[in-house]
Formats: sequence, structure tokens, C-alpha cells
Amino acid sequence: MDECIVCHEPLGKFEKIYAGLGHLFCSKTCAAKHLVETVEPQTLAEYAVTGCVEEVTPDEIGIDKVVVCDWCGLDFDDGQLTKTDLGMLCDRCIAAIRSRGEEVIIIDDGGYNYGNE
Ligand SMILES: [Zn+2]
Ligand SMILES: [Zn+2]
Repeated sequence: MDECIVCHEPLGKFEKIYAGLGHLFCSKTCAAKHLVETVEPQTLAEYAVTGCVEEVTPDEIGIDKVVVCDWCGLDFDDGQLTKTDLGMLCDRCIAAIRSRGEEVIIIDDGGYNYGNE
């Protein structure tokens, strides 16, 4: 006889049962109990989040892409950083590195130029 993995009640007794995580449960309470007992709190929290939020890309909902300068770690709007041999750098970092007498090589990837607006 199939039974709830948590409380061992026969599953045939219930109108609705719950299947998931490779097991059958008689109720959400038992399913939750199983999760709490067997899954790491962090993973558990992630399951909860997955259940109540939807995955979207920032782009889809009109949020501008933010890029991070590889040197100063500050956030910039997409297109404001320059691709160099040292990574994606902001103008200030490029100027700072050059002012120290070091070379920064700008990498031209296919001629696409965002310009300096
Ligand atoms: Zn149960
Ligand atoms: Zn920077």
C-alpha cells in the first residue's frame, strides 16, 4: 500500500495527494515537513522564491542594462565602458592608468562604436 512518506497514512484515503521531490505526500503540510527535514535552508528558501516570483530579464521590463567597470567596480550604463586588454573599463580608469604611464590597449571588436555621447 502506498503511504505518505512523512506520516505513513495510506494515500488511498485522501481525495488529493501531492507528488514531488521524488515522493508522494498526503498533504502540503507533510510535503513541507519533508522539505524542512531534508533540504538545506538556503535551498528551501530558493524553492519558496521560485514559487512566488517569475523570471524576467531586466530588458523585458524596461530596465537599462548596467555594466561594471573591471577596475573601479562602479556601475555604468551599457555602452559607457570601453573594451580593453585589461577588461571593460570606464573612461576615468583608462585615464588613471594612462596617467601612471601604463598602456591601455583599446580592443576594437568588429568596428561597432558606441561613440561618446
Ligand atoms: Zn502525511
Ligand atoms: Zn572604472
